[in-house]
Amino acid sequence: MKITFGSNSRLEKIEWASLPGERWRHAGRNARLGIHGKNLKVDLARITAGGITGFGMANLSEERAKALLGGPLAEMFTPEGRVQPAFFDLEFPLMDWLGQANDCPVYKIVAADFFQPVDATFSVPFYDTSLYFDDLHLADDKAAVELMQDEVREGWERGHRSFKVKVGRGARFMPLQAGMKRDIAIVNGLREVTGPASYLMADANNGFNLNLTKEFLSATREANLFWLEEAFHEDDQLYADLKEWLTAEKLPVLIADGEGNASPRLLEWAKAGLINVVQYDLRQLGFRNWLDLGRELDAAGVKSGPHNYGVLYGNYASAHLASAIEGFASVEWDGGRVDGLDASAYRIEEGRLIVPEKAGFGLDLDDKYFAGIVSSTGWAVSKTL
Ligand SMILES: [Mg+2]
Repeated sequence: MKITFGSNSRLEKIEWASLPGERWRHAGRNARLGIHGKNLKVDLARITAGGITGFGMANLSEERAKALLGGPLAEMFTPEGRVQPAFFDLEFPLMDWLGQANDCPVYKIVAADFFQPVDATFSVPFYDTSLYFDDLHLADDKAAVELMQDEVREGWERGHRSFKVKVGRGARFMPLQAGMKRDIAIVNGLREVTGPASYLMADANNGFNLNLTKEFLSATREANLFWLEEAFHEDDQLYADLKEWLTAEKLPVLIADGEGNASPRLLEWAKAGLINVVQYDLRQLGFRNWLDLGRELDAAGVKSGPHNYGVLYGNYASAHLASAIEGFASVEWDGGRVDGLDASAYRIEEGRLIVPEKAGFGLDLDDKYFAGIVSSTGWAVSKTL
């Protein structure tokens, strides 16, 4: 598509605020961290240039924002409509602005050749990532399974059909074998609730080792897990052993890894077939870098599953990568609400996120509310051009 950058548009204003919000439900511990709680926040910057605004998740200092004022927008993008590396700290607001300036959703700006725009709506698979260790106060495994089953039912009512559950209770918060026993009972119990058609994933946050991983996967064979995430800290020797074992056992579970402090050799190991789904964090890696990485992974036959947790904006922004990455697996969805951020153009239908045919990232800000937070706890810088 022909993209316009507003030849004379210069950055005239940047406003920044951290908007507080809440998850739908309190989130407990995982294999390595304490309670995640209910609070969410989204740090947002809104830019104004050429009379057009764009906003998105961003963290930058007021000083840095001042230094950016007056810059021509045309110089902040590549001709294909990607943000130049020098402006990565404003990448999401800039992509949203570009969408507004061209009256085009971001997913159409970045779409790859395989993506054929049709009249049908654009929808992306997404999964409920909210199933934490919410059962640790219960002594009885049966009661723990029932509690987690109720959480899946709650997600189901919200339109989710894919779920990821935290495992690795025995790594820190329960005795080793008691934790393993409960992990297994929960995963098998969740499959009973979802029925056979749902995607069910498990995430050990590096709380297993190789032998525990095999024990867990053997005992959850019937649950037909789609992927096991961060079984242990990635290691090519151990992953090679696990892969060999999965093949011998005829277990089709995919291996997912890459969030947090991933090994610098992770991509090499993924391309060698040891890791099937790469999960670098969306905010940390950035949108454009994910586009490039996704295509590289496509060429290697590796799936892309960007990590996204605790940042509501990312639930929506990740979906826009799916038009550009053929092996895009699923949006990681940490559901909740943030006052002032209007996502009502998005819809959820039978486990798919329907991405609106709406400019930019398809989200709206409540002007008055945002301006209030900007003036109370945020900042705004502007320059008369
Ligand atoms: Mg994870």
